[in-house]
Amino acid sequence: MFDEIGQYDGSCLVNRTAGEVAAQCDSEAANIITLNLMHDKMNKLLAAAGGRVDAIFFCPHLPQDNCQCRKPLPGLFEQIGERFGVPLDQVHAVGDTLRDAQAAALAGCQTHLVCTGKSEGYSGSTPPENFPPQTLVHDNLSAFADWVLALGEAAHHTPSRAPVR
Ligand SMILES: [Zn+2]
Repeated sequence: MFDEIGQYDGSCLVNRTAGEVAAQCDSEAANIITLNLMHDKMNKLLAAAGGRVDAIFFCPHLPQDNCQCRKPLPGLFEQIGERFGVPLDQVHAVGDTLRDAQAAALAGCQTHLVCTGKSEGYSGSTPPENFPPQTLVHDNLSAFADWVLALGEAAHHTPSRAPVR
């Protein structure tokens, strides 16, 4: 899943945990290597399309580690706020699962759901039950990106307050 944040004109990916990848691999070392290969492939595909991700955050822990960065806990989003110095209430976080939205909401982000991936087939205009009620629903990541871009354009066309002298 992808979680993109705006406001500082950049984007971050909050990815699956290394523990989830471990379930598909034979060893802990292999799961980090696999995760890195996945990120490398993604970065190459993005670069070819003219895109970029400024940073990738992931939880390196297993469930029994009781960390704060394993979604639905908000630790990864809090790390993004600290790293980039952005107030999380100005961050738009998008994902395709309930725990994505829960983690983002706990961190104070504005939550968005895309009806692709694990939420493919969902077609409501309001978030499914149990989701943070403020969650906005988009058909897909492209529709979410359009929404964010429109928000930026609206802000540029809003007259700013007169400078204080
Ligand atoms: Zn963790």
